[in-house]
Amino acid sequence: MSQSETNCLCGAVKITAEDVNPKFTVCHCQSCRSWGGAPFFAVQCGTKVKIHGEDHVKQYESSAWASRGFCKECGTHLFFKFKQSGEYNMPVGLFPNLAGLEMDMQYFSDARPSYYCFKNETKEMTTAEIMAHFASAL
Ligand SMILES: [Zn+2]
Ligand SMILES: [Zn+2]
Repeated sequence: MSQSETNCLCGAVKITAEDVNPKFTVCHCQSCRSWGGAPFFAVQCGTKVKIHGEDHVKQYESSAWASRGFCKECGTHLFFKFKQSGEYNMPVGLFPNLAGLEMDMQYFSDARPSYYCFKNETKEMTTAEIMAHFASAL
């Protein structure tokens, strides 16, 4: 776990994340690919996240369990936040200085389209496995 600071492209939003897990996840689900145009590469940041310039952050409720936040001024994607736990997942590319980055997990592996694949050796979870996991966790 390491601390990291970042800001959106225009600088209106500044974020400090105290506990960033460098073992990042990739999500292939259709929501993530629609949101960003590609799979979502995310670091888990827990709840110790400080956001400055929150007036410039727009949150979109993308599902019953989470919302997605972005800068209203420049459109930079800032976070995916779980409602129940308050935990943040943030784009790995926001943090230029993270050490020890490693692709650890691919979510919704069965939703990955055939036009790309990664050669990284990772864990994977299918839609059915994720639904079963969250059903027992909630
Ligand atoms: Zn911005
Ligand atoms: Zn996703």
